[in-house]
Amino acid sequence: MKPKQSIIHLPVYQPGKPVEEVKRELGLKDVIKLASNENPFGCSEQAKVAIQNEIASSSIYPDSFSAALTSAVAGHLGVERNQLIFGAGSDEVILMLARAYISPGDETIMADETFPQYKHNSEIEGAVIIEVPLKDGTHDLDAMLAKVTERTKIIWICNPNNPTGTIVRQDELIAFLRKVPSSVIVALDEAYYEFVTDAAYPDSVALIQQFNNVIVLRTFSKIYGLAALRVGYGVGHADLIHYVNQVREPFNTTRFGQAAAAAAIGDQIFMQSCKDRNSEGRSYLCEAFDRLSLPYFEPHGNFVLVDTGLPSKQVFDALLRKGIIARARWTYYPTHLRITVGSMEQNEKFIQALEEVL
Ligand code: PMP
Repeated sequence: MKPKQSIIHLPVYQPGKPVEEVKRELGLKDVIKLASNENPFGCSEQAKVAIQNEIASSSIYPDSFSAALTSAVAGHLGVERNQLIFGAGSDEVILMLARAYISPGDETIMADETFPQYKHNSEIEGAVIIEVPLKDGTHDLDAMLAKVTERTKIIWICNPNNPTGTIVRQDELIAFLRKVPSSVIVALDEAYYEFVTDAAYPDSVALIQQFNNVIVLRTFSKIYGLAALRVGYGVGHADLIHYVNQVREPFNTTRFGQAAAAAAIGDQIFMQSCKDRNSEGRSYLCEAFDRLSLPYFEPHGNFVLVDTGLPSKQVFDALLRKGIIARARWTYYPTHLRITVGSMEQNEKFIQALEEVL
């Protein structure tokens, strides 16, 4: 009963502890989770109505091609419908991309450290993993380029990068894309794209018209507040998307997810209000870290990687006892915590607890 060689050493994914479990274990009444970069303001009211409207059809399979959602997103982005693919979260788009394009022995390049699913799915497909250390917390594009060989299949760029929150700028990205061979796919993971306010951030959807080998990955789990419904998408050249579609399971997104996501992208007023509140909360956290003389990477998403100066497990546990779930366990950042920007009340509670802990 041996599984395939490429998965033998893989650990089973360990998510952070859910709020209810922490409450029970520590006997706490109030627990704040700032560990998974979720939206503290929930989702659009229009998305909630859309979910309710689907309940009557719950015995019927969803539309395999997510037609209504495809139209809504294509219209929003100004792309053709055949340039889009939807998945159960962008996690599944990453999986499908690896499944469609990576053969055993192919090489795939990613930053170290970055979102772990690029490595995980590439390893399952039997790829040789080339990890390139971050430089000052951001992607070292020249070093990544230097690793390209004729076996390279996919280069993964997480922008903003999880966990550091740093960005690759438009000018650097264009210079990089010009040098990447057209046979190599560049996956630009923009899970946190909507939170970015820096004008230097790339206009990646415009870039896919120019570079056939680029796929942009986005999600409804973050600013749109629909993490529970698992909807993400990829946008790229129709030929590239076509092959990803070939490995897609027939009903990989749900009726509820499709309907809620289409309503959510139609409610840009809610999106903008989340973006504004996130910017406010992010600035509040950064100002507090400045006051406490704690270094942090310049954040562009809805989270901040901050250096507490103490072993992160110790700070994590102490915060947990005060009812705050943060994220620790970074390979290269043993004294850092990643904290999600919450509501202002949550941010204030977190800073107060951190001050007590340090
Ligand atoms: N990419 C990045 C960089 C992420 O941080 C996450 C969520 N943690 C994802 C993709 C996957 O998100 P989802 O599957 O919920 O769309």
